[in-house]
Amino acid sequence: MDIVGNVLPQVLKDEATEDKGEMARLQSFVGAIAVADLVKTTLGPKGMDKILKPTGPGQEMTHITVTNDGATILKSMYVENPAAKILIEISKTQDEEVGDGTTTVAVLAGELLREGEKLIQKRIHPQHVIAGWRIARDVALKRLRDISTENDINSQEFHDDLVKIARTTLSSKLITSDRNYFADLCVKAVLRLKGSSNLDYIQIIKLPGGTIRDSYLDDGFILKKQITIGCKRRIENAKILVANTAMDYDKIKIYGTKVKVNSMDKVAEIEAAEKEKMKHKVDKILKYQPTVFVNRQLIYNYPEQLLADSGITVIEHADFEGMERVAAATGAEILSTFDAPERSQQVLGHCDLIEEIMIGEEKMIKFTGCKKNEACTIVLRGASTHILDEVDRSIHDALCVLITTVKNKRVVWGGGNSEMQMAAACEEEAKKVQGKQAFAIEAFARALRQIPTIICDNGGYDSAELIQNFKVELQKGNNTCGLNMTDGTIGNMSELGVKECLRVKEQALMAASEAAELIMRVDNIVKCAPRKRERA
Ligand code: ADP
Ligand code: MG
Repeated sequence: MDIVGNVLPQVLKDEATEDKGEMARLQSFVGAIAVADLVKTTLGPKGMDKILKPTGPGQEMTHITVTNDGATILKSMYVENPAAKILIEISKTQDEEVGDGTTTVAVLAGELLREGEKLIQKRIHPQHVIAGWRIARDVALKRLRDISTENDINSQEFHDDLVKIARTTLSSKLITSDRNYFADLCVKAVLRLKGSSNLDYIQIIKLPGGTIRDSYLDDGFILKKQITIGCKRRIENAKILVANTAMDYDKIKIYGTKVKVNSMDKVAEIEAAEKEKMKHKVDKILKYQPTVFVNRQLIYNYPEQLLADSGITVIEHADFEGMERVAAATGAEILSTFDAPERSQQVLGHCDLIEEIMIGEEKMIKFTGCKKNEACTIVLRGASTHILDEVDRSIHDALCVLITTVKNKRVVWGGGNSEMQMAAACEEEAKKVQGKQAFAIEAFARALRQIPTIICDNGGYDSAELIQNFKVELQKGNNTCGLNMTDGTIGNMSELGVKECLRVKEQALMAASEAAELIMRVDNIVKCAPRKRERA
């Protein structure tokens, strides 16, 4: 038997012996909580910023990022721990799905796990915890939906809601003092979309220089390119052909092929043939009768000359995104062959005016009165690229949330109101549930309540007192109360105008509880009895 005693514990290879159940569980909890704690201090309107600095050889001079955005911070983190990775993943998903609430989701998942850990220490089996959490999540979700309100999409109230939501989203970011200005700007941009959710129509151009307040919304589309020399600088009633085709072989450019010639004349002959081919292509393009020709690729002098001579304005080397946007905004099709001039009506884009403009010190091309009138451009100005990048991220968040709100229409009060209400619902439920699951439901409520607690803490306020007062106010039936982060009191959210989109909260709740459950359960599988390593 001695032999068995010696051999059995060595079933796994040496490297694998570290993987004890207890350790694995602890590791995933610690990892997830550590990640949540890292972004915790950025939560809320008084949250702090983080500097992200790339490391490694040759990276010393690279661009650093200053940000308050949970998803941006988490995305750039390099982690080993699998549970930490799950948290980063849900934050990313939140960013892609709804654009905001990226910190909330990670923090909530972390707090859930912190509570879960305590329950496990009290010898409550993870399955009971999960069962309780599921009940709690459903109850919370129901309450969340019950307290949300909806206004008619064309009403002034809805418009006001949008401005308030934009303001709340922007309030934790770098541009706090300018948030009213940018909230209006974002709402105007989103309302132009008329319900479409294509963010491509809203283009953001960042130009260092000036101050943040010099940023503006330009109706129309701006392409960061220049009109080729020798062409008209102002075209009214433009018919635009957008192409992605090679226009750069009027000179010999044959790779991987050997051409042997005896004299220079022969070279000239080949060149002439190439030129002829080019001319043929240009002729085909001319059949479409455009007045403006936009190409993704380079255009060499010869075809450029041919086009310019026919009175066509040429824009070459438009980058792909820019070109796709031109096509979307003007209603053009992107062509690469030109064999169907009879379809010219369908494939040509249209806009009222194309002109060259100056923004700051840069020349750009502006398309006004596009066929698809939704397109517009937000021009961001600011002292440094760091500021511009953060403003860009914040505006992107706001735009996403606004688009989601236009789709979903339902809104809830911010400032911790929804979390406190959900927590209250869970606590009421816990009183009705028999068995150990009730502990888990209570734990869920505590985790939810951590969100407003952390927002308070980040503002330097006494969270214990504020949260208690908050509870009492809600108990009294004051359904619009919430954190007043300017005075450090419990205020009225409808007076302060702090609103949030229901979808953001829903998504955060679902994703956080799912992730917490996942980490909890994975642990349950791993949790086989720790192997004893002592030698008999
Ligand atoms: P996230 O990345 O999760 O969106 P934020 O840092 O944007 O994190 O913080 C969002 C939280 O801050 C929300 O719970 C919101 O209700 C709260 N909040 C935002 N603005 C205010 C405000 N002016 N007063 C009180 N709470 C606010
Ligand atoms: Mg936010």
